[in-house]
Amino acid sequence: MTRILLVEDDDDIREALSRALTAQGVTVAAVARGSDALGRLTEFAPDAVVLDLGLPDLEGSDVLAMIRSLSDVPVLIATARDDEGGVIRLLDAGADDYIVKPYSAGQVLARVRAILRRHGSGAEAQPTEIRIADLVIDPQGREVHLGGEPLTLTRKEFDLLLYLAQRPGQVVSKDNLLADVWNLPWGGGDRTVDVHVSWLRRKLGESAAKPRFLHSIRGVGVKLVDPS
Ligand code: CA
Repeated sequence: MTRILLVEDDDDIREALSRALTAQGVTVAAVARGSDALGRLTEFAPDAVVLDLGLPDLEGSDVLAMIRSLSDVPVLIATARDDEGGVIRLLDAGADDYIVKPYSAGQVLARVRAILRRHGSGAEAQPTEIRIADLVIDPQGREVHLGGEPLTLTRKEFDLLLYLAQRPGQVVSKDNLLADVWNLPWGGGDRTVDVHVSWLRRKLGESAAKPRFLHSIRGVGVKLVDPS
């Protein structure tokens, strides 16, 4: 059964949506304040969060950042029609999708189902696991094992690793990674890719000086190779 955490300060919306989602077989936890969302996130362990952008106590972006520091749970932003800037900022900051008020429980559920499918927890067939030497990546379960040991990756680290592993031996440019993994415009020009590659390296137990899987090609990009 799907579990949804609803963060919404408007009593009428919160109660109506809770009722409607519950009627559709969803298990709902509902809180009115951003500061209450985090406690519920850990104890309730939702499959998805519906986060109202306009909360009285905290900025939506701050709530999202706090959620992201704890969890990769899919987050659906709920917003008034006139807040496009806010929506874009939150999508860039790691929200998965958004929905414009007024919305129905059916719309929320359809979006959540789509997000869960993209996350690979839907019933549809997904690519089977990728094995490169002792590295095993399960795209559906979003799990990675190295030498039989599970690795704990953040969502973007996983996305980056999967993207490279699907193109073994192929140099991928930073612009391509920014566009395809981060959904950022071409020529973002920041250090996002470098930083994530270096985090991923550390988790794979290798370094830029002594690469195993991840090889940076100066001025070009990065590739994942089979070290065996
Ligand atoms: Ca509100």
